[in-house]
Amino acid sequence: MKGSESMGERLRARGACLVVRRRLQPHLDGELDAARAAAVTDHLTRCDRCRRQLESFARIKIALREAAGATMSPKDQVALRRLRRFADGLGDDSAP
Ligand SMILES: [Zn+2]
Repeated sequence: MKGSESMGERLRARGACLVVRRRLQPHLDGELDAARAAAVTDHLTRCDRCRRQLESFARIKIALREAAGATMSPKDQVALRRLRRFADGLGDDSAP
C-alpha cells in the first residue's frame, strides 16, 4: 500500500508544519530555547512553505517597527498627537 504510506507521511509533515508555525514568531523574537530553535531552523531548511511564512512574519515585524515612529514624518507625528488628544477627549466627555 504505497499510496497510504505517502498519505501518512504527508499528514506527519503537516503536523510538523503546524508546530513550527506556532513557533515562528517566538523564534523571530528569540524567545525559544536552543533545542526548539534548532528544531524550527532544521524544519525551515527542508520546508519552503514554512520558510516563506517566516519571511512574511519578518517583513511584518520590520514594517511594524518602522510604523512605531522611526520613519514617521513630523507632519504625521503631529497628526497622530492630535488624533490621540481627540481620542482622550472622547473618553473624558461625560456629557450626554
Ligand atoms: Zn513546514
